[in-house]
Amino acid sequence: MFTSALRRSATGLIRPATRTLGVRAFSQSSVVRSSLPSLYTLTEEEQMLRDTVARFSAEQVQPKVSEMDEKEKLDPAVLKGLFDHGFMGIETPGELGGSECSFMSAILTIEELAKVDPSVSVICDVQNTLVNTVFRKYASKELQEKYLPRLAADTVGCFCLSEAGSGSDAFALQTRAEKKGDHYVLNGSKMWITNSGEADVFLVFANLDPSKGYKGITCFVVEKEWGVQIAKKESKLGIRASSTCVLNFDDVKVPAENVLGEIGKGYKYAIEILNEGRIGIAAQMLGLAEGAFDQTMPYLNQRKQFGKPIAEFQGLQFQYAQVAMEIEAARLLTYNAARLKEQGKVFVKEAAMAKLYASQVAEKTASRCVEWLGGVGFTREFPVEKFYRDCKIGAIYEGTSNIQLQTIAKMVSAQYR
Ligand SMILES: Cc1cc2nc3c(=O)[nH]c(=O)nc-3n(C[C@H](O)[C@H](O)[C@H](O)COP(=O)(O)OP(=O)(O)OC[C@H]3O[C@@H](n4cnc5c(N)ncnc54)[C@H](O)[C@@H]3O)c2cc1C
Repeated sequence: MFTSALRRSATGLIRPATRTLGVRAFSQSSVVRSSLPSLYTLTEEEQMLRDTVARFSAEQVQPKVSEMDEKEKLDPAVLKGLFDHGFMGIETPGELGGSECSFMSAILTIEELAKVDPSVSVICDVQNTLVNTVFRKYASKELQEKYLPRLAADTVGCFCLSEAGSGSDAFALQTRAEKKGDHYVLNGSKMWITNSGEADVFLVFANLDPSKGYKGITCFVVEKEWGVQIAKKESKLGIRASSTCVLNFDDVKVPAENVLGEIGKGYKYAIEILNEGRIGIAAQMLGLAEGAFDQTMPYLNQRKQFGKPIAEFQGLQFQYAQVAMEIEAARLLTYNAARLKEQGKVFVKEAAMAKLYASQVAEKTASRCVEWLGGVGFTREFPVEKFYRDCKIGAIYEGTSNIQLQTIAKMVSAQYR
């Protein structure tokens, strides 16, 4: 668990650039320039967290990756390890049992985990960037005090927005809530819900007043034991250790105090949270690309054909140089979006670009790595075929690639109006 010594502001080491105006600015410019940090500048806390996650991934996740993928099941010891190390409540305040680290710390954790297993990465991503953040940003003090300590200690949460008929068009959702005396009753069905196989806490978006359209959508905190049914677990192409289930709500009674935030504001919370959640998916895809590349490059130096290492053939050199550059660009987009968000600046376009680009880079990297490994890349003996299967989800969840393009286009066109 992260100690209080580590609970310091992530931006602590990042000094604002000095403002200089007029001609004198030129003579001072070298001083100003040297004080500007690169996007690689991490706080001490962030570096320590990243090293801890890397160690955890190598020692406790790596040995189980292939078995979890084969069995389509998260190993309970891995889940416990995530909680025990404080990775499931990264930004949660210390007094509520969390690690009280920065948003960038969450991004680095998601990236490091994805280098080894993108499934484990998304479990941590959903818990931190969606579930905990919804509680921290919008829930009453009472709900925060009731749920955030559990979510940091041992309870998995999930974010239930999508339905069979409403994916990209999320606010066409059909799940209904009805007020009955001192409680609400939920009826409907959710689809594609990450973490729902392990979860005990469900953030459910339901429409309380369909006559108001999307302005009737309200967010409810629902506990599994109140009657959430796990109807079906999907068998997937990739990220197979992460559970994705269909959920049914059949007259599920929810106490009135479990309305999260304001009635009718669920649509706003969902949009805002997914805007920042996309930086998490960018980090997952970035980590995936880095993991595939790291696992492949040593082989290219060892494998000899025509009397020399295949890494020395220009045909391969130009390809891995290109991929290395694109991974670097994905990293810069992702870190920049994270820093913008953390500093309270506008970040929506940058987050959409980071998610879209990192998912494209993940696909290209994983595909190239399989090719560069030749026959062994195509077998399950080598971890790269799994990265190739895992990468496809980056273009689908938390807004498909077309939806990211739509967001980017809207914001770019507004800049020129
Ligand atoms: C493994 C997995 C985990 C998930 N986890 C969660 C979760 O935890 N919580 C949750 O709420 N949801 C979750 N989802 C749902 C996910 O967010 C949706 O699948 C996604 O938003 C796309 O919706 P859809 O599948 O209905 O596809 P559709 O919306 O039907 O899209 C199909 C195709 O049409 C395109 N399209 C749709 N509308 C437009 C448009 N206006 N312009 C151009 N093209 C368009 C899309 O880009 C896509 O290519 C998950 C999905 C998967 C597969």
